[in-house]
Amino acid sequence: KRTRKYFIAANWKSNGTTHFVKDIITNMINSFEYDAGKLDLMLLPGLLHISLAQAMVAPHVQVGAQNVSQHGQGAYTGEVAAEHLADYGIQWVLIGHSQRRGVFQESQEVVAEKVKKSRENGLGVILCLGENLEQREKELTGQVLDDQLTSFHTALGGNWENVVLAYEPIWAMGTGRIASADQTQEAHEHIRKWLSKTVSPALGEAMRIIYAGSVTETNCENLIKLSQVDGFLVGTSSTKPAFRDIFETVQ
Ligand code: PEP
Repeated sequence: KRTRKYFIAANWKSNGTTHFVKDIITNMINSFEYDAGKLDLMLLPGLLHISLAQAMVAPHVQVGAQNVSQHGQGAYTGEVAAEHLADYGIQWVLIGHSQRRGVFQESQEVVAEKVKKSRENGLGVILCLGENLEQREKELTGQVLDDQLTSFHTALGGNWENVVLAYEPIWAMGTGRIASADQTQEAHEHIRKWLSKTVSPALGEAMRIIYAGSVTETNCENLIKLSQVDGFLVGTSSTKPAFRDIFETVQ
């Protein structure tokens, strides 16, 4: 029997307009009927669209940020500090997304700093972790996950409350190439075992681990059936009507 609450996050990445935000929230997101005791739904709009989304969403729908600065407030022109997110009533932030790591060359050290700054400001965090294609082919996936988990554990000061882990095999992100059921189950199981062993069996059991990478309305059913998968971080499909089908399949 499932004990963990589902978690679905819609990562709109750097897409959309105010018109898009109003349209998708009014015509799709706010029409979703679900038991908020069994499922968390989180929208991650572009930064400038967050306030609009916050003002429009139905009560149960949460709105988070896609990124945060590794610095606090100060002489960091163009950066958005965790203090700013908290001040705007934003309670969750996505950290360590593969596009941040890849396109913007964020190292695990920078990712860890972001985690620290977010926690100092009371934010919940969706932490992304996963291997690239070369690491998978060299059978280094387990080691990569362990290293990232160790770094997160330190950055969190061992406090794993209000954390969701998003397993994102980098080779499956935005590529249309989804991880197989076996690959997903195995990676999630690996993460859960690490948590059980390093932190506590209770955390290993309770942690929500969601899958990210090329989730669509046609492939999501196969993954959500897995005992280890607690939901999805949906990118491309989250800006399309397909998101309704994904949402319906999960709940
Ligand atoms: C994402 O960018 O968060 C993501 C999961 O992308 P996609 O679904 O497009 O692979």
